[in-house]
Formats: sequence, structure tokens, C-alpha cells
Amino acid sequence: MTPRGKLSGQGAVPTTMKRPTFDLHAPAPGEGGACYVPAQAPETVVLPDERKPILLPEPPDELPGKGYRKGQIASWLYKKGAREWGEMTDLPRRLREALPAEWRISEFALVQALPSSDGSVKYLFTLHDGSRTEAVYLPYADRKTVCISSQVGCPAGCTFCATGKMGFGRNLTGPEILDQILAVAYHQGLAPREIRNVVLMGMGEPLLNYENVTWAVRRMLNKHALAMSPRRITLSTVGIPKGIRRLAADDLGVKLALSLHAPDDETRKKIIPTAHRYTIAEIMDAVRAYFDRTKRRVTIEYTMLRGVNDREEQARELARILKGLVAHVNLIPFNPWEGAPVAGSGKKRIQRFAAALERAGVPVTVRWSRGVDVGAACGQLALKEN
Ligand code: SAH
Ligand code: SF4
Repeated sequence: MTPRGKLSGQGAVPTTMKRPTFDLHAPAPGEGGACYVPAQAPETVVLPDERKPILLPEPPDELPGKGYRKGQIASWLYKKGAREWGEMTDLPRRLREALPAEWRISEFALVQALPSSDGSVKYLFTLHDGSRTEAVYLPYADRKTVCISSQVGCPAGCTFCATGKMGFGRNLTGPEILDQILAVAYHQGLAPREIRNVVLMGMGEPLLNYENVTWAVRRMLNKHALAMSPRRITLSTVGIPKGIRRLAADDLGVKLALSLHAPDDETRKKIIPTAHRYTIAEIMDAVRAYFDRTKRRVTIEYTMLRGVNDREEQARELARILKGLVAHVNLIPFNPWEGAPVAGSGKKRIQRFAAALERAGVPVTVRWSRGVDVGAACGQLALKEN
């Protein structure tokens, strides 16, 4: 289905506040430089929306309205995917008219929806302060997945990642993280609960925005909200030991994916700046603790970079450090982007690396990314309009 291409509704806006305006053709924020600055072209500047986000707070009692009205509102938001107060036709008219003054439904407006030839769709949204975020819709034969962002840009700065190159804008708020799922469902013409899988693999490092990410995950799990199974939510991290341990202690039960990308600290430091702070040993200890708590198989992500991490002996070294851990390795062919300082390994090299892992008894799959043609694949998200 093609996206509806409609701006997310804000409902009626209180008279004290100007209706936000969004420029669909504003220039994309510049790349490069030390720090990413969100798009602030005059016509994209929007007044801060100080209304409370409606996205289900916890406990659900905090929703507006009385008694069963709260249930009605939750159902409109999460089951029917309403994006305008006016759609909630079974609420009394006076309530419908009063609510928008205090509560906003959507966090952002659609800038662009870019369908890929493989069926995935990359979404670019503008936030209330003019900054932008990206999410990707990924339909599979048996499930519909949304890949969401946790930050505008990323402070981690991995050399092979277009988001890392952009630098850091700001953390996304909890409602902004959650609304990516609702907005993508809406533009795909789906009810929110038809999205059964979420991967936190878009822009940003989720464990560096811990509070807001877990706020959103709690609503994904909440039976009054998206009612998802924790097994269908995957959080991918560059490896922040404290964050991994905290996630284990919070017991949300989500699946963990670790972006390891190298079997030794020296190689890792060449491509991942945070490797100067945390050693593989420290990270793997935290990952083992996560497994002990959740008993969920951990995914090890490994982007294949030519001449950096793709030798067979490195595969054997990787197998050695994974010994005893219930893990699965995802080999990711490098997704190219303009100006990348690294290149991807060829198909043969990837296959040889995979075979070496298999011989060492490590389960492995090669994850051919989707959406490469529209820049929606892993590591290609960089807020550019095509
Ligand atoms: N910050 C988190 C989640 C977002 S990145 C993390 O790093 O895990 C999601 C995955 O895409 C990570 O495994 C990341 O290393 C990988 N990735 C980044 N850039 C890539 C690229 N250009 N090609 C292939 N994979 C890439
Ligand atoms: Fe950030 Fe992940 Fe990209 Fe590294 S790979 S810069 S942690 S988004």
C-alpha cells in the first residue's frame, strides 16, 4: 500500500498558539562538522507545542476524560490509529473540542515517504522544534516491522555509519520514539497493532537515551497500548555495559543485539570510538548477565568491512569470544553511503567468513539489508531528502 502522504494531524490548536507550519521542501541539515545542527530554516521553525503528549501515560488513568472514556481514547489511539481528535466520533462533542487545547496526538509531520523497490519505505519526519527523525517500514511475508530511531543523529560516531558521521542533535523524547510506530502504521494504512515487530536500529544509540527509550518500550508492551510481545522488540546497541546491565535489571524482556563488528579491541577502536571507553571483555560480561537474566538468545551484529574485520582468523577469534554464550551472529554486508571512509567486503569474503564461523560451531546468517536503494538500510539513515 502506498503511504497516505498526509501530514500528521494536530487536531484543533488552542487560540493562544499558532498552528505549527512544516515546510516539506526545507533543505536537509548539513552533514559533516563536529556537531549536527537540526534544520532551522525560518519557515521550518515551529513553536514549541507545550500540550501534553496524549500517547498513553502510565498508569492509563492519566489519560483525559472520566471512567470508560479513557478506554475509548486508548482504543482510538492504539487500536484504530486515530491521528485527529475529530476522528473520535463516539466521544461527546464538547470533550472532543476541549481536548486539543491540552493534549496533542501526534509528535511530528511527514516530510517524505520513500518506497524502496523491495517493499520497505523510509519515512522522514519533522519534529516540533524543526529537527528531524527517520523510521523505516519493513514488510516481510509473515510480519510487519518498523525500524525506529532513538536520537537525532548519534554521539557514538562509528566511522562506517552515516548517522555517526552526522554527529549528535538531541535525544528523542519517549513520545517521539513511540509515535514513529503509530505514524508509520498510519501512513501505511495499517492499524497500529498490525505492527508486531519493532527494531531499535534506526538513528542513535538507544542505551545513551535510556529513560526515554524504556518509556517508549513500556508503552509498546502495555496491554492498553500496543500490547506487543517483548520477544518482538529488539534493541540494538553499540555496547554500553552499564546500560545493558540496567536493561537486564529492569526486566523488560526485549531482545538484545550487540554491534560488535570486531573480535579484538584494537580493530574495534579503529571503527568504533566508544571502544576506547569499553573493552570487549566488559561488554561481553554485561551481555552474559543480560542472557542470564532474560534467557533470550543474543544477536551479535558484525558489519563486514573490507580489510578491517573480514579475515578468516578474525572469524575464529570471534567464535572464541562467543564461546559459552547463546548467540547468533548476523553478518551485515556494508551499506555504502557517500563519503564513507570504509568499503564493504565482497560476497565471497563474507561467505568464507560465515563458513569459518559455522565450522567453529557459531550459528550465523548473512543479513542482506533492505531499502539500500533509498538509503533506508542499516547505517544509511542521515536525514537526507532524496
Ligand atoms: N546504535 C545502535 C543501533 C543503530 S545502528 C547500534 O549501533 O547498534 C543498527 C546496526 O547497523 C548496527 O549494528 C550498526 O553497526 C549497523 N550499521 C551502521 N552503519 C552501517 C552500514 N553502513 N552498513 C551496514 N551496517 C551498518
Ligand atoms: Fe551510532 Fe549505531 Fe551508527 Fe554507531 S552504528 S554511530 S552507535 S547509530
